[in-house]
Amino acid sequence: KKYIYLFEEGGKELVDLLGGKGAGLAEMTKIGLNVPPGFTITTEACIDFLRDGNFPKGMMEQTMDALHMIEEKVSRKFGNPENPLLVSVRSGAPVSMPGMMDTVLNVGLNDETVKGLAFMTDNERFALDAYRRLIQMFGEIVYGLPHEEFRGLIEKVKREKGYDEDKFTTSDITEIIKGENEIYRKHKKSFPQDPQEQLVESIKAVFNSWNSRRAKTYREINHIPENMGTAVSIVTMVFGNMGSDSATGVAFTRDPNTGEKRIFAEYLTNAQGEDVVAGIRTPKYIDDMKMEMPQAYSDLIRMCDILEHHYRDMQDIEFTIERGKLYMLQTRTGKRSAKAAIRIAVEMYEEGIISEEEAIMRVTPEIFDRILHPQVKTNGKETPLGKGLAASPGAAIGSIVFSSERAIELGKSKKMILVRPETTADDVRGMAVCEGFLTQKGGMTSHAAVVARAMGKPAVVGVETMHVDTTNNTLTINGKTLHEGDVVTIDGTSGLFYLGELPVEKPEIDKFSKKLLELADKNRKLGVRANANTPEEAHLARENGAEGIGLARTERMFLGNERIPIMRSMIMSESKEERQKYLEQLLPMQISDFVEFFKTMEGYPVIIRLLDPPLHEFLPDKETILNKIYEIKSGKNGSDELQYYEKLLKTVRDLEEFNPMLGFRGCRVGLVYPEIYDMQVRAIMEAAVRVQKEGRRIMPEIMIPLVGHHNELKILMERLEKTAKSVKDSDQVDYKFGTMIEIPRACVTADKIAKYADFFSFGTNDLTQMTFGYSRDDAEGKFMFFYLENGILEKDPFSSVDEDGVGELMRMAVEKGRKSNEKLEVGICGEQGGDPDTIYFCHKIGLDYVSASPYRIPIARLAAARANI
Ligand code: PEP
Ligand code: MG
Repeated sequence: KKYIYLFEEGGKELVDLLGGKGAGLAEMTKIGLNVPPGFTITTEACIDFLRDGNFPKGMMEQTMDALHMIEEKVSRKFGNPENPLLVSVRSGAPVSMPGMMDTVLNVGLNDETVKGLAFMTDNERFALDAYRRLIQMFGEIVYGLPHEEFRGLIEKVKREKGYDEDKFTTSDITEIIKGENEIYRKHKKSFPQDPQEQLVESIKAVFNSWNSRRAKTYREINHIPENMGTAVSIVTMVFGNMGSDSATGVAFTRDPNTGEKRIFAEYLTNAQGEDVVAGIRTPKYIDDMKMEMPQAYSDLIRMCDILEHHYRDMQDIEFTIERGKLYMLQTRTGKRSAKAAIRIAVEMYEEGIISEEEAIMRVTPEIFDRILHPQVKTNGKETPLGKGLAASPGAAIGSIVFSSERAIELGKSKKMILVRPETTADDVRGMAVCEGFLTQKGGMTSHAAVVARAMGKPAVVGVETMHVDTTNNTLTINGKTLHEGDVVTIDGTSGLFYLGELPVEKPEIDKFSKKLLELADKNRKLGVRANANTPEEAHLARENGAEGIGLARTERMFLGNERIPIMRSMIMSESKEERQKYLEQLLPMQISDFVEFFKTMEGYPVIIRLLDPPLHEFLPDKETILNKIYEIKSGKNGSDELQYYEKLLKTVRDLEEFNPMLGFRGCRVGLVYPEIYDMQVRAIMEAAVRVQKEGRRIMPEIMIPLVGHHNELKILMERLEKTAKSVKDSDQVDYKFGTMIEIPRACVTADKIAKYADFFSFGTNDLTQMTFGYSRDDAEGKFMFFYLENGILEKDPFSSVDEDGVGELMRMAVEKGRKSNEKLEVGICGEQGGDPDTIYFCHKIGLDYVSASPYRIPIARLAAARANI
């Protein structure tokens, strides 16, 4: 079996067998770059060795044959005292595990060959220095001798001599070598003088480093399979420590931080590889090299260019300069920041290195999550106060406040974080003046999470270890108690939050992001709309490139000082006439909301959903009302209010349900109190007529929520069509009626429902809730963590559509719906609509568009293009 590949024999396609480093060295050799001669022992040999405890049969013979070929090539001999060949023994797994495994340099030196090296290079000090490095490295890696003892020895000599290690004389180094041998003796070992033994033991040590604790931990964290093994590359030594015309360093072919097209290099003169990594000396930069070693500099620039064009991506390179001559020791695709990833993809496309499609595929959509929100800058040393769900990304800093009323009172002058057990519709106004939200309960689709994403504000929700006491206005976690005014930093990207103010980085949608998104738009089939509940959100959605509104939830429009009392009176009404009276008052307000929406979205469709939540959500909770009644009765307040609050209490009690999310909400309310939907439809049509008369083209789409049986839609449609037509000049408006598909039964009977609908929009929040039978407001806080941690579920179905279950229902609904109504327009407006995996799935089952929160529009545009490539 073939266990050895000379660099000339390998190539980048053999990465599984040769590891990243071996494949890179082979590829560079193949394209004619200056790589020191060498060969790679395969990962298969490693796997066999780790299984059997011995090298596989023939491996060592092949190794020695390859070594002889290298000897020929460089006219030196391994172990020859006159003319010694030295090699490095380098690890390299198929996937990058930086710094996790071992490498031994200068193998082949002993008491005799060190003299040969000194003679050959005419530099005794250098030869001895290489030798003492080998003894130390070999001791640490092969025998596991303590690093501190070797380091201590060097420190001791430094102290005694009063200068640093660069200035060691040959006699200092000779003394160090003696000391090193003593460390071996102390541990009952000796440094092997036989070069072949050094080689064999080094190879074994590198193989074994695959199973070192840190490598195993690294694989676990990064989900790297255990059974890959590492390859070992044996490379002729070249020396960066041969004097001031020698150096060793690393380079990125573009700036890994900004993405700018300029070589980013760090190097040390007169040093060996491990010095750069160890950070003992401050490295120099590329501009220094231009001055110091002009020839090597221009070679490096050329190599970088060749490698980039060859690999067609930014490369991360290791190099050594030996007496002015540049050698390449490694190349791999370089890691980069989110911002750099975008710039590099766009510029490589513009330079003609990659195609439009490749540029799109180079950037993962989630990157926009990172660059669109200010982010907490941690140095890893801060201790967080606690952790919850990362519900809405970004950093927010502010003093904590425990109620929305208080937040409004303190006003916009202060930066605040709203801390609540959970939030409700009542909190929206307070949320509007806060920087971010922190809640004890709730999941990824809880009120706080949904509103936070829609507002583009950071949120950490469902911190079950935290206790929020709204009576005393305190927050308690891990024995610490915080009060109003205490400053916290919340990181909605990680779900962590901290006491005090942490530094943040500001986002920026730069020209490169804009360009990439333009390319994405050209390449996608799916439309991208936004979920927006206010004209401001609609505005932002347009700026981010949304092509219309996929969901405007009208319930938010009934909040606010002016409107909520009318809404409450409407709900408390005892007769249809009374209800009608209050609805008439709400009508002009609704009209003005819709006018704004339509103007912002001129030329694009706007889906307005009729009232959906259970009515009790517009009323205060029982406790608040009871307190108020108590206050009035104990004489602190005017008694004329008593009647009002008693009536309010009665209404709340009447509306009380065991399962409000499965209760009297959505079209059920619309059917029982049809005058509510009548008012909304009139408002939509009147607004449409008004805006249209200004010469703007608009496309209202009226959406009915929570339909599960076609009769629900049929009855409502018959009535609402009439209402729409009753509005003067409504025939001039191009409008549609449709329904949300968010109840499993609606999917199964989609053919019947589609007869009454121009469009479907999947409400995957409710559809997931009802398909799994998990409460969308409780699951994440209660058991979802456990399910995910224990692999019961792979992904949270409220963040990413469950393709096997919910997705199958969607597929069925699309198929059945289009069969009975071929013009049916189908989209998705649940929270998952902004999730890249969900977007791929929606593309696959043939939806017309996805709708996501305004901040996720760039993600959705890119994901939709990637789905189509
Ligand atoms: C849904 O259920 O997915 C949806 C979009 O509606 P809501 O979240 O308002 O119930
Ligand atoms: Mg819903």
